[in-house]
Amino acid sequence: MQRNIYLLGAPGAGKGTQAQLLSERFGIPQLSTGEMLRSARLEGTELGNRVASVMDAGGLVSDEIVIDLVEQRLQRPDHQGGVILDGFPRTIPQAKALDALFLRKGRSPLVVVAVDVPSDEIHRRLSGRRWCVRCKKTYHVTDNPPGESCESGGVCQLDVRSDDKPDAIGRRLVAYAEQTLPLIAYYQAKGVFHSVSGTGKIADIFASLLVVLS
Ligand code: AMP
Repeated sequence: MQRNIYLLGAPGAGKGTQAQLLSERFGIPQLSTGEMLRSARLEGTELGNRVASVMDAGGLVSDEIVIDLVEQRLQRPDHQGGVILDGFPRTIPQAKALDALFLRKGRSPLVVVAVDVPSDEIHRRLSGRRWCVRCKKTYHVTDNPPGESCESGGVCQLDVRSDDKPDAIGRRLVAYAEQTLPLIAYYQAKGVFHSVSGTGKIADIFASLLVVLS
């Protein structure tokens, strides 16, 4: 059975963490457009350079660019058993393009689960989020500080992701409210929408997700 799952939620809702757990549980890959774009930037590709300023400002990259990335990635053989979508689709045109792509490729319908986190908690999570420029892992100053040693040797060297700076956080949350929240009604109308609470322990949120997906 092909399982196609889409985790919808605000930046900082914990979609990436839960997508990774689901990916391990079901043995299907996580497809994160944010990660793909960050990798392109780190590799200094033409695409990476093109999207850098929009990402740093907390804006959304154009629909054409992300749809193209997803279409290419879904063609990989290891994506034929299903996929966990994290951070895509983020706009109605992206959702429509994904529907058309799924239809064309004969993929099983998407199951959508929103990870709900109140906005004051989202602000707290994003403003305390850090990443290590050496091992590239994400941490939080109080909820999840790095251990004594960095996986790449020595100690972690923490920095704030450019899109986690205060102005960019504000813009990302506006983009979420204006462009991504309308997807809830879109998927409700299709009868494929579910939601779980995204506050509390990671393991408890994961357990709620498994109940919804069972
Ligand atoms: P994320 O890691 O999912 O929060 O994504 C980081 C940044 O990548 C976002 O703030 C956007 O600039 C860009 N991005 C990721 N996914 C998308 C998408 N589906 N549509 C437009 N921009 C995206």
